[in-house]
Amino acid sequence: MRDRFVAKFLSEEAFMRSKSLGRLIRASIFSLSVFMVASPVASSPPEMMKLYQVKSGDLSLNKAFLTANIDFGKIIKVPVAMYIIEHPRGLVLYDTGNADDISDGKCEAYWGAALCSGLQPSQTRDDVIDRWLSKFGYSVDQVTHVIYSHFHLDHAGNIEMFPDAKHVVQKEELKTAWWPEKWQAGAFVMKDYDETREFDFMQLRGDFDLFGDGAIVILDTKGHTQGHQSLLVRLPKTGSLILAGDAVYTPENENGAMPGITWNVFESMESINRLKRIRDAEGGDLWFSHNMEQYDTHNHDQPYE
Ligand SMILES: [Zn+2]
Repeated sequence: MRDRFVAKFLSEEAFMRSKSLGRLIRASIFSLSVFMVASPVASSPPEMMKLYQVKSGDLSLNKAFLTANIDFGKIIKVPVAMYIIEHPRGLVLYDTGNADDISDGKCEAYWGAALCSGLQPSQTRDDVIDRWLSKFGYSVDQVTHVIYSHFHLDHAGNIEMFPDAKHVVQKEELKTAWWPEKWQAGAFVMKDYDETREFDFMQLRGDFDLFGDGAIVILDTKGHTQGHQSLLVRLPKTGSLILAGDAVYTPENENGAMPGITWNVFESMESINRLKRIRDAEGGDLWFSHNMEQYDTHNHDQPYE
């Protein structure tokens, strides 16, 4: 009945074509659903990946920023770690370091006197993330994803270099960056990101497997800030690296010392324990954000594969 009704509005030939098209679509949906049931939930990790650890210069700061109430007033030099990760489906950054504007002694004009004297950055222009990318044969335009541990000045300083990338951040961190509590506002430099409202943000709430293959997994490690996130990278040859960001500054934090700068001490300590559990379960290594002794043991000219 329905077929006769439709046929009145179509030529015989068009009607037959529409029926065979319908069969084709139904057959395609059937085979697609068979394929979806038969295929695994996630594809396996790729056979080729590269990870470079580099730094946006050093900071010289009061050690008590890193370890609360321990070595108060002692000035130590720490690296500002960043990561370049090549995956078959994208070129990924984890953190972008200090803004290029503070390079070569120009700190005060951009960060202001208080931050510059408190952190004493040593960054040269060659330490900035775009120069590291070109050193390893990449261009800024090739970066597909920028993942932020958080939006403090030494981690999200160069977001505006990547207007065409996807920016992967916890929703809570974005809200915090734009409207921090007054007592935590000092470490957010709004000039770093005040022109990014139209950027393509992937706003996460919790963990996320970036490419669905287990190779680059974002881990919720709130505590240092409201939306801090760490990164589990499973490399084909090296194995699992847990890039802590500022969730674990140093081995002392790993061993139970409270971080000096934290939004929420309880959440910070829970996140440290979480990363240690994942490190142990994976049989991997925990890499700190601001620890010179560990940084100096790593290779920064060659990729980890
Ligand atoms: Zn930091």
